[in-house]
Amino acid sequence: MNLRRVLVSITAFFVGLIIASCSTTPTGRSQLTLFPEAEVESMGVQAFSKIKAETPLSRDPDAIRIVRCVSFAVVDQLPAEYRVGGPWEVLVFDDTAVNAFALPGRKIGVYEGLFRAARNQDQLAAVIGHEVAHVIAHHANERVSTAYAAQTGVNLAQVMAGGSSTATGQLMGLLGVGATYGVILPFNRKQESEADIIGMEFMARAGFDPQQTIPLWENMGRANSNAPPEFLSTHPSGDTRIAKLSEHLPVAMPMYEAARGRGLTPDCGF
Ligand SMILES: [Zn+2]
Repeated sequence: MNLRRVLVSITAFFVGLIIASCSTTPTGRSQLTLFPEAEVESMGVQAFSKIKAETPLSRDPDAIRIVRCVSFAVVDQLPAEYRVGGPWEVLVFDDTAVNAFALPGRKIGVYEGLFRAARNQDQLAAVIGHEVAHVIAHHANERVSTAYAAQTGVNLAQVMAGGSSTATGQLMGLLGVGATYGVILPFNRKQESEADIIGMEFMARAGFDPQQTIPLWENMGRANSNAPPEFLSTHPSGDTRIAKLSEHLPVAMPMYEAARGRGLTPDCGF
């Protein structure tokens, strides 16, 4: 084989790899996902262990009960592949941050400070739905893949091996929990808007009122008027977000009404 033929073969291989690695999100957007899902899940599990080791758990039994009740109701509506392999691990952390996250590998974390913005079970479900939607839409895989493809200097080999603390910090950032750890690699705007839309549908299917997404984001803005929290700093501006959520209500409301009709009327005592 001459050099030219070798180069053509190599190029064809990489083009094939990229094409084979394009998947479609639940909203129909195409995305680059280079990593096997099992690998992304083990990254999520690893990140969650680290957060658990560094953040004290809540000792507020009401907060824990409410967060678990709402989270399990939302998770029950996920596609079957996200409900196998055991229940989701749902923890509340003793931290004033107005923040929450979900990770691949069936993990949900809520900071006590979130209750300053989420004032009832429907508003809490709006946040849980949004965070879980990032997982279902493979946003972490897309983020890692995009970083990899762009050669940003993130040492992914080290990250995947769970090596140095720098690599671990990068891993946190890639998974979307980075802001808490001082490494800001936020989900992009497209991913955020997508998580809003998908999340609204999950909460509605669980029998939570999707109209409550609007006051939730208004509360978020107010709760954080002084110091912009991690959650808001990496998310779209309030007005754009509320306009897009309102636009999607005519789709989500019938899902909510159908769920209520089927007897899905969650009562988490909040
Ligand atoms: Zn988000």
